[in-house]
Amino acid sequence: MNNAAVDCDVVVIGAGPSGSVVATMLRNKGYSVHIVERQHFPRFSIGESLLPQCMAFLEEAGMVEELHEKAAELGFQYKNGAAFVRGEETSDFDFRTKFGEGPATTYQVQRGYFDELLARHAEKKGATIAWGHAITSADMSGEFPVLGAVDEAGDAYQLRAKFVLDASGFGRILPRLLELDRPSNFPSRTSLFAHLHDNIADEDQFDRNKIRITVHPEHVDVWLWLIPFGKGRCSAGVVAPSGFFEGYPEDKQERLMQILREDPSLRRLLRNAEIAMPPREIAGYASNVSTLWGKGFALLGNAGEFLDPVFSSGVTIAMKSASLAAAVLDRQFRGEAVDWEADFAAPLRQGVDCFRVFVEAWYDGSFQDVIFAQKQSPEVRAMICAILAGYAWDTSNPFVKDSKRHLKTLVELCRSA
Ligand code: FAD
Repeated sequence: MNNAAVDCDVVVIGAGPSGSVVATMLRNKGYSVHIVERQHFPRFSIGESLLPQCMAFLEEAGMVEELHEKAAELGFQYKNGAAFVRGEETSDFDFRTKFGEGPATTYQVQRGYFDELLARHAEKKGATIAWGHAITSADMSGEFPVLGAVDEAGDAYQLRAKFVLDASGFGRILPRLLELDRPSNFPSRTSLFAHLHDNIADEDQFDRNKIRITVHPEHVDVWLWLIPFGKGRCSAGVVAPSGFFEGYPEDKQERLMQILREDPSLRRLLRNAEIAMPPREIAGYASNVSTLWGKGFALLGNAGEFLDPVFSSGVTIAMKSASLAAAVLDRQFRGEAVDWEADFAAPLRQGVDCFRVFVEAWYDGSFQDVIFAQKQSPEVRAMICAILAGYAWDTSNPFVKDSKRHLKTLVELCRSA
């Protein structure tokens, strides 16, 4: 390749988790990496409950020690599981009892600080970051991809790289510019959320080491999250079909607090809560693409497919895509023949498709009946626990290898017990 013709080996669009992790992995292998990030960090982002599977990717990138070191200072909350609530029923999954290998604990993080930590790590490893610059155009027709960018003063310039990784999240830059966007099969849902000073005193009723997911008392397809952070703060939100919010107060804060208080246990827990951030709303976030790669580019994380927030799988999928892309690109740069479909897209989709089966079954209520089943073999529960911990690529787990069939049988068993 003619190195004089390019500014760097790889341009990464966006410094979210997929962008910073892939940049660090590629720097570890000696490639020159330039990240273009539209915003300045720390900035707010949603996606605050991590899964233990993430830690394996952060370990692979050499980023996990710094995360552990800074966790307390940055208010990251140790997380060892998920607690589900449906009316009077409760069901706790402790990731330390999961099936299979791999880290069993992780953190719940304010993404502003988490993303900044990862991005600064990538910088320390030698990636350059153009903060406040945005990618605006992409030409993939020549020998090398050519990207158009604008700096903070609004001045346009061009970037040439051997390869472009789009990690622009909901920005979905290459899908939009290259017309790869496709509608998701999931119905349009809306999420309303905020941060609270929770002032929760009943620690015996509330395990801060777990995300708490509550099924709405009247609607099986509406759920509420409570994600504790350190320093008495938590994230609280509701996810519902977009029409659900009609009839609730216009004011978003009143609306959110009213919906949270419709569940008796949340009403009790949050009785002294104070709002710590104006509520935000995101609608219609599920997305898909016609392809995850093409000549000179690949799509990472949310720039590819995004399913649904219910099992907190977004950051894990983003980091898995980073890990797969870094490995394929390394082989490609070393002159090996690579097949992006077989080596990147197919293995990524395998895990995404596993999550999809469980997400669909959550919303039709059948997986909820598994979660709240009274009698369950500890072995099967450990396998389900592994999926909730993010291990959707571990095909030694039957619920990963043949998700649909095994889940269907399990639902029937749980419902007939
Ligand atoms: P992002 O984190 O979105 O980062 C993309 C970056 O690209 C941003 O910094 C952006 O500024 C930058 N960018 C965008 N456009 C441009 C441009 N033109 N030029 C340069 N830079 C650009 N996931 C979890 O793991 N756990 C959760 O608990 C969870 N909860 C969620 C709740 C809701 C309501 C939703 C909608 C999602 C949730 N997710 C969760 C998913 C999670 O938010 C995403 O999957 C995750 O942030 C994707 O990471 P990413 O690296 O792909 O993109």
